[in-house]
Amino acid sequence: MNHIQRSERTLCAVQFLQYGLRASIISQETQLPLKFVRTLAKEQMITAAKSGLLDNLQSILSSQYKIMSSTLMLSIYHGLAKAYISFDMDLNLLLKAHQKHQQIWLGFGFEKELCISINQAWVLVTALLSQHVELSHYPCGYTKIILNSSKYQLECPVCEHLDSH
Ligand SMILES: [Zn+2]
Repeated sequence: MNHIQRSERTLCAVQFLQYGLRASIISQETQLPLKFVRTLAKEQMITAAKSGLLDNLQSILSSQYKIMSSTLMLSIYHGLAKAYISFDMDLNLLLKAHQKHQQIWLGFGFEKELCISINQAWVLVTALLSQHVELSHYPCGYTKIILNSSKYQLECPVCEHLDSH
């Protein structure tokens, strides 16, 4: 990484930290050292850069609201990634997709607390890109999240249909 790249990534890292993305994720995706990202957070007085385990897929998809929120998030990211021809994890797209997702979510009149966080969105999109998760459709047409590595099945929030894949 040259100096200009490092400067660019540093500016992006600050933006991601401000949005609430964890330092460990930012470090992993930008290749900036974790210690450096944590120092940036301190300098910016950002306390949201928590450590500890990230939520796993099953806990993210633990309620019908979270499933709806996750489906929306993944659909938007998928659409943007196609439009931008971006097949690897792209934190800028992740932010854009999460912002759009939140706009729509609040537009529906749902509470902000019920939707998935940016860190949970990263877990979901990472799973989508590594094909641990796929998008399909229920017979009613509603978008379905398929968990490839698990027998755990998600019920359709619209018609409560549960089918095997
Ligand atoms: Zn359905």
